[in-house]
Amino acid sequence: MTPFKPENIHSALGGDFFDEVQPARFPQQILRFRNQKWAEKVGLAGLDDAHWLRRFAGFEPFHGSLNVPLALRYHGHQFRNYNPDLGDGRGFLYAQMRDDSGRLLDFGTKGSGTTPWSRSGDGRLTLKGGVREVLATQLLEAQGVNTSKSFSLVETGESLVRGDEPSPTRAAVLVRLNHSHIRIGTFQRFAALDQPENIEKLLDHAIKFYVPKANGALVEAEGALLENRVGSFLRTVGQSLACLVAQWMAAGFVHGVLNTDNINITGESFDYGPWRFVPTYAPDFTAAYFDHSGLYAFGRQPSAVGWNFTRLAECFVNLVPISVLNDALESYSENLQPELARAVLERLGLQSNGFLSDISLANAWFKALFDSQVPFERAFFDFYANNEQRINDSPYAARYVSESFAPLRAVLKDFAPHADANLNHAYFTGDGPCTVLIEEVEALWNPIAQRDDWSSFEAKLAHIAQMSDAYQRG
Ligand code: AMP
Ligand code: MG
Repeated sequence: MTPFKPENIHSALGGDFFDEVQPARFPQQILRFRNQKWAEKVGLAGLDDAHWLRRFAGFEPFHGSLNVPLALRYHGHQFRNYNPDLGDGRGFLYAQMRDDSGRLLDFGTKGSGTTPWSRSGDGRLTLKGGVREVLATQLLEAQGVNTSKSFSLVETGESLVRGDEPSPTRAAVLVRLNHSHIRIGTFQRFAALDQPENIEKLLDHAIKFYVPKANGALVEAEGALLENRVGSFLRTVGQSLACLVAQWMAAGFVHGVLNTDNINITGESFDYGPWRFVPTYAPDFTAAYFDHSGLYAFGRQPSAVGWNFTRLAECFVNLVPISVLNDALESYSENLQPELARAVLERLGLQSNGFLSDISLANAWFKALFDSQVPFERAFFDFYANNEQRINDSPYAARYVSESFAPLRAVLKDFAPHADANLNHAYFTGDGPCTVLIEEVEALWNPIAQRDDWSSFEAKLAHIAQMSDAYQRG
């Protein structure tokens, strides 16, 4: 069994980066979700529920990790307007540790009380918001998206008033497992405050702890010229962000709030508020009711994240020549197409057929989904491993022989299934794909709200787990 491997690394950055805070004390602690799979990976699988609650609702410190929770400081562009009045307003960094592969992970919270950054907020999270984040992260992980994990959800017995939920509404505290909580907005804050020495400190910290060691260029760059470090760092971030956006597009996911304070420099997706999955391929589909202009619509996510990435590069304008930044910025755009092709192939369980052929497949795939308006996840389910029989047996078989699918079928015939694609898995022999569309979220929330009946939520999590197993997510 993996032992818990605590770390206390973020504190060493110093007081310019965070504020020490106290967690809220809650009237009740009712465990609603514990992520046993990830508890195993970080060595906490053996905690009994009472001990779990002392940590993930009581926030008793882990020996060897942070002594006190840290509310992190950051700024950010929200819907393109710069907001210097941000920071962890209802969460904090609770603890750090290594997982079974040696990656540095954080426990971050949401709904754990007020901080110096709460402004007029109550520092709380609604239970429904917590349930939604659990569902989004579990499904995204099953779909192969680089996402934060929901580690724990505890109902707290408080009641909250919110404009976007029937109120009063129930409250919860969520603990996430993140690979870094360093946001684009963390860098932006030091640029806005004109603190170049802190930008450099954060840069070196990010390189040291969050850059895959496989990236030789970066390992060499440690201690190298500042412009080399900045260039290598930005190129790695650009590539990770391109990969993330590609994975969202291939998952049919709309994050909803792509502000720079919600973009992690590791390219790990996190902070799920008004997210939605598209029912069918629709570029103008928006998730947030307050996104009136459709800035963060499904089809605009690649450009929105590209815009954010440019804001990150801008933080270094007074530190390195502009040509270094311009070169590094290309790492995002030049990786988008190949990453999209890779994400589509991966989701379809197909082997690569060469770069250009893969890109044609991805283009033909999305065009077919757009033209036909076949349910998004259904198409991935039916075309998994490119099996004629499966495609013909689908209730959508007639659509798959229609005009809108002809170009795709022509390209697809050259693609072979991935060696370990397992069509005999119970998920693939089942009735249909696992989805968490908005109607389904509402349908499983209603019994919870009305009679504290969690069975539909549990059933959905079980279906997601089955899907995750079918796609061999490990
Ligand atoms: P978000 O849109 O969730 O990324 O949050 C944007 C900012 O608002 C962050 O600084 C949050 O910590 C803060 N915030 C959101 N909701 C609350 C709340 N209920 N209480 C305090 N701060 C909040
Ligand atoms: Mg946020």
